[in-house]
Amino acid sequence: GAPLLSVENLTVEFSTAAGVARALDGVSFEVRAGETLAILGESGCGKSTTAQAIMGLLPKPAGSVTGGRIMYGGRDLAAEPVRKVREVCGTEIAMIFQDPLSSLNPVFRVGAQVAEPFRQRRGMGRQEAWARALELLKRVGIPDAETRISDYPHQFSGGQRQRIMIAMALALGPKLLIADEPTTALDVTVQKQVMNLLADLQAETGMAMVLVSHDLGVVAEVAQRAAIMYGGRIVETGAIRDMYDHPAHPYTKGLLESIPGGRVGSRLKPIVGSPPNLLNLPTGCAFNPRCPFAIDRCRELAPTLRTPQGWPAGHQAACHLSEEVLTHV
Ligand code: SF4
Ligand code: MG
Repeated sequence: GAPLLSVENLTVEFSTAAGVARALDGVSFEVRAGETLAILGESGCGKSTTAQAIMGLLPKPAGSVTGGRIMYGGRDLAAEPVRKVREVCGTEIAMIFQDPLSSLNPVFRVGAQVAEPFRQRRGMGRQEAWARALELLKRVGIPDAETRISDYPHQFSGGQRQRIMIAMALALGPKLLIADEPTTALDVTVQKQVMNLLADLQAETGMAMVLVSHDLGVVAEVAQRAAIMYGGRIVETGAIRDMYDHPAHPYTKGLLESIPGGRVGSRLKPIVGSPPNLLNLPTGCAFNPRCPFAIDRCRELAPTLRTPQGWPAGHQAACHLSEEVLTHV
């Protein structure tokens, strides 16, 4: 079917004291109903900016969409006034963040906060909304929810607070949930539980998800497709299983080798060097200063996304040398 969300050639720029940084440069991807797309990369690669641009949450006035479209439900969200985008995002597109405390109000009981969308957007009375909030808190696994619904955010653990955020995000039955590093602040066991919860809720509701993460290992089980970002661009995209077994970009290969329990038989090996400065990107391929395979051409000519020979259709990478330095067997 038609994609639910279609991001087309999106460019976002930030003005800073040191000049204009192009945080996103020609980013394109689609999300279909019911599927999960992971957007992966190191900090500063543009993955959170992508999420913010969709939600109309770019920090103003520094950040703005300077090109491309964000098509949702036949409208270009990038061209709509922020007020309109918030309307859509308040109901059909929901978002959760890394730090639930920053999104929860410390002075209100969690029940009141989870009940708020039902009152504000669905016009329910206090009791009905409270009952719906209780249902949701139970569904996201808050133990003893009847009592805890009257507690304040600081009385919950980090994992429970993220569950409460998920409850709020799901209140109005969104068609798309965007989660920006939803488990990064949590310990490994709790991370798994929260990811499993998201997967269960997705299976139940049929919503689509965009999972933004720096950790391929965390999202590999939940997402069907992934887009790997570097220097404000997508450098590889495809089915996550195939990307896991047969990366077509040296950066993706590096990411896989840097995660615990990553590729079978691989040792933990961080990628040498740091993410590029968006104010001063290397010429040619932005990854060339860190790439063990870089040749002169890489420093002169920026590679574009293409399906390397031997990789399946739908798997794309932006590397001159995919076929030479990586193999799909
Ligand atoms: Fe490395 Fe060159 Fe491929 Fe860039 S284009 S990832 S520098 S081999
Ligand atoms: Mg981020």
